[in-house]
Amino acid sequence: MPVKNRFAELQDEITTWRRDLHENPEILFDTHRTSALVAERLEAFGCDEVVTGIGRTGVVGVIKGKSNGSGKVIGLRADMDALPINEQTGVEYASKTPNAMHACGHDGHTAMLLGAAKYLSETRNFDGTVVVIFQPAEEGGGGGKEMCDDGLMERWGIQEVYGMHNWPGMPVGSFAIRPGAFFAATDQFDIQFEGRGGHAAKPHETVDTTVMSAQAVLALQTIASRNADPVDQVVVSVTSFETSSKAFNVIPQRVQLKGTVRTMSKEMREIAETRIKEICEGIATTFGGTVNVRYIRGYPVMVNSDEQTEFAADVARKVSGNCDDAALVMGGEDFAFMLEERPGAYILVGNGDSASVHHPEYNFNDEAIPAGCSWWAEIVENRMPAA
Ligand SMILES: [Zn+2]
Ligand SMILES: [Zn+2]
Repeated sequence: MPVKNRFAELQDEITTWRRDLHENPEILFDTHRTSALVAERLEAFGCDEVVTGIGRTGVVGVIKGKSNGSGKVIGLRADMDALPINEQTGVEYASKTPNAMHACGHDGHTAMLLGAAKYLSETRNFDGTVVVIFQPAEEGGGGGKEMCDDGLMERWGIQEVYGMHNWPGMPVGSFAIRPGAFFAATDQFDIQFEGRGGHAAKPHETVDTTVMSAQAVLALQTIASRNADPVDQVVVSVTSFETSSKAFNVIPQRVQLKGTVRTMSKEMREIAETRIKEICEGIATTFGGTVNVRYIRGYPVMVNSDEQTEFAADVARKVSGNCDDAALVMGGEDFAFMLEERPGAYILVGNGDSASVHHPEYNFNDEAIPAGCSWWAEIVENRMPAA
């Protein structure tokens, strides 16, 4: 089964929506225009229920099938937010807002799920209920978590959830997925070493935080090389090293290190957090200083459920003839919170040979629309076949 004919017909219209969203990007939870547009369209499609303000600016639409003998409820989720990047694509529908850009293709995700909602509202060729979920603040704000905290799953009785992300470097409209851990847990750390500042020519009168911090940067690398099981994945990156002095002849009183930790299991996440604290405290003690370590947990590991992943891959094969095995992604994904609450699956759809996501020259590929929309529709029609 190739893409659905209806989406070939709707492609121009969905592309127009996508480009309008692209021209008007909104960051984090400030997706007011986008959310209003989404809600307006869902109403116009004839959704049975449209609710705004779930997870602050999230939008939910309910589409009932021709029958509901199955009693099944499936959630389909798209993200709506953009990134604080100055666009450099040069396209005519480029962002009109400085330092805001749809550089992760969430404009495409929103447009494709709207397209699927339009089709599903028209045809209703399924036995059960679809809940379309449009979330804000995927890019670091935890909008998906806020929607869950607002009772998303319970309020609409959602039983399983599906998500999709475009993927540069994969052929346009092709699919890839993997069961189990897929996207990494993304945590941050903020480490403050405190010593005794002083004259750089009298180091014996100081407690040197620069030396302490330099030791820490190197020692933190041993979490990956000495504490992690070699077959497990962990990234510990120190990304900022700031001392409290800019002078060449002053030993700084304070040094702040910041960075990120990426892990693929709960166990490895625990180990990384514990070892960062132990290593920094040990070094501070050794050199006569003190340290304050803040470990800030971000998105959890995103884990695809086995059964739903197999089903999602089957549907992808129906739509595009093939579904590849995806590699692990050390980036984070807010959909992880929804997958913690319900079984489900998250799939990648090819964006062709584009710049990578989060790059100022990235652009969503509108040619992926028929495949993406077809996958959504087929998920519904195959998981809840019409009676
Ligand atoms: Zn992103
Ligand atoms: Zn994204």
